[in-house]
Amino acid sequence: MDKQQEYVLRAIEERDIRFIRLWFTDVLGQLKSVAIAPAEVEGAFEEGIGFDGSAIEGLTRVFESDMLLSPDPSTFQMLPWREEVNSVARMFCDVLTPDGEPARTDPRAVLERQLARVADAGFTCYVHPEIEFYLVDRDGDGRIVPTDYAGYFDHVPGGTAHEFRRHAILMLEQMGISVEFSHHEGGPGQNEIDLRFADALSMADNIMTFRAVVQEVALQEGCQATFMPKPFIGQPGSGMHTHFSLFEGDRNAFHDPAGQYQLSATGRAFIAGLLHHATEICAVTNQHVNSYKRLWGGDEAPSYVCWGHNNRSALVRVPMHKPGKAQSVRIEFRGIDSSANPYLAFAVILAAGLKGIEEGYELPAEAEDTVWALSELERKSLGIGALPTSLKSAVAAMAESDLVADTLGEDAFEFFRRNKRREYLAYDAQVTDFEISQFFPRL
Ligand code: GLU
Ligand code: MG
Ligand code: MG
Repeated sequence: MDKQQEYVLRAIEERDIRFIRLWFTDVLGQLKSVAIAPAEVEGAFEEGIGFDGSAIEGLTRVFESDMLLSPDPSTFQMLPWREEVNSVARMFCDVLTPDGEPARTDPRAVLERQLARVADAGFTCYVHPEIEFYLVDRDGDGRIVPTDYAGYFDHVPGGTAHEFRRHAILMLEQMGISVEFSHHEGGPGQNEIDLRFADALSMADNIMTFRAVVQEVALQEGCQATFMPKPFIGQPGSGMHTHFSLFEGDRNAFHDPAGQYQLSATGRAFIAGLLHHATEICAVTNQHVNSYKRLWGGDEAPSYVCWGHNNRSALVRVPMHKPGKAQSVRIEFRGIDSSANPYLAFAVILAAGLKGIEEGYELPAEAEDTVWALSELERKSLGIGALPTSLKSAVAAMAESDLVADTLGEDAFEFFRRNKRREYLAYDAQVTDFEISQFFPRL
């Protein structure tokens, strides 16, 4: 029993915790939870807790359905939305096979494996996401409607959004997740909360927790929260722009005071990797048919493969930093939405960036104009390609990708590919209201 495990056992006793939820995530990014009694925790640390993995999307093949959950004691936190008596805590888990090997389709294991590669290359990765989502109500017909009609940075006195953000942030802080900014976003009912940076694995865990907290608080406020990439026609989508930097010890490897925008050659090569592999990782970072309505629906979502400085149409942005703030030099990847599985998405983004560094990819010139305003021909002459326009074309690009296959591992890759294929086939088979209204009157 190590020190952290002992701390957890002591905390359970001292705080009279009655239920310990073991959390893990399936391949599609759905949070899973099983509650165990306090008396089971010691055994869970020593041998894991057995469960039938065959019921979980993508987790096992039928012949190896017995799986183990091995709780990570460093993720122990109380759930603040539960009452103080008979209280509840949670730990994130690694999923193991019966012989103690990491399960091949555990997204946390996929990211841990990628982070080991990042460490082998001499780096530690820090990330922070800007998470956008909508708060919605239901109207009399059961349709979702936004909770307000405010816009970007609007102050909404007494509004749901205001109270909501206050409660959500307090709850996140209680769970050890620091929030940097929060504001009303551009769409009606749309909000954004930006988390303070952390290492990539902790941040992926934090994002899963964030989604659970936001859903809980929304229910307490009498509404619902959605991380759907594009819930409303003609309104902005919900992105999860994520900022990345690589450190070598205490030194920010993306910083060079002499570089353009203070960005080092390593930072430039990382961006070059993201651009080079953007199309093939797109299905993972934008995993639903609905994601492509955000990417191609305007409102500052990126559609084209380019980078820029203060260019909000670019896929990758080098944000402004104050002179002398070497630690904060970073890159912002905008081609990821709020429905992504953060473990898999971070893994493929890091794989692409690292490949750029390893292979010494050359960074193309930055896009100085709003790329949406350029003509097809102009974009072509600047060498600016497009992101996939549908899940179907994104999956086709992913299916050819050694980088994604290698990062996810064969089993997770195959499961993901098949599941996504089913999703776009089922979607393509729909006859929509749009078709009825457009074609029925005329045909
Ligand atoms: N909502 C936009 C997106 O989907 C981003 C707006 C912003 O720049 O914050 O990417
Ligand atoms: Mg935003
Ligand atoms: Mg942003």
